[in-house]
Amino acid sequence: MHYIDITGQRFGKLVAQTCGSPDRQGNMLWHCTCDCGRTLLVSGTNLRQGRQKSCGQCGSLRLIDLTGQRFGRLVVMKRSTQRSANGNALWQCRCDCGKQVVVDSQRLRKHITRSCGCLRNELAKKRSYHNAAFRKTQGNISRLKDANGVFFCSTKKTKRNRTGVIGVSFDQHSGRYVARLRYRGQYVLNQTAATLQEAATLRHRAELKYFKPSTTD
Ligand SMILES: [Zn+2]
Ligand SMILES: [Zn+2]
Repeated sequence: MHYIDITGQRFGKLVAQTCGSPDRQGNMLWHCTCDCGRTLLVSGTNLRQGRQKSCGQCGSLRLIDLTGQRFGRLVVMKRSTQRSANGNALWQCRCDCGKQVVVDSQRLRKHITRSCGCLRNELAKKRSYHNAAFRKTQGNISRLKDANGVFFCSTKKTKRNRTGVIGVSFDQHSGRYVARLRYRGQYVLNQTAATLQEAATLRHRAELKYFKPSTTD
């Protein structure tokens, strides 16, 4: 049986997204999204004949009351008098940290918004703490991985190394230390320094720049 393709077409507040399966009467059902954000199945015939133009639940009459419910750190206090641009109800929420925010019902129910923003800030702090922890391992090349996730030390250590610092060699001719780093087949660092410490620092900076730190132990 052949069905009329209405993919992407708009019928009132409804937009046909994908074709589902036919109902008992043989009418093709379409997965539609309503402007209010809900998704529902509607028969193509009803859509084309203008019998259904919305999910029927986006009016304030059938509003889902979220008062008193908790979403992450947020507790819904009351319905806000504002309305979001997409017509969703907005809710006045109190975060565990004490701040109050107004959040869209969809964002609450889909757990997209779970705090006033303090949760995200805390997570960001945690991540930077891990970076700080990484920085403490400076000079410890065993924790560095290359772009393919291979531990750098496992591929680059050579028997000829006499300085004790990977990537730093002593040049007898000039009497200086040479810091080198190869990345994707090219020297991204090839610099001399008067002391081993300086050369090691040069090498270490280049490692940080070109090799990702290992995020897991
Ligand atoms: Zn709706
Ligand atoms: Zn908060």
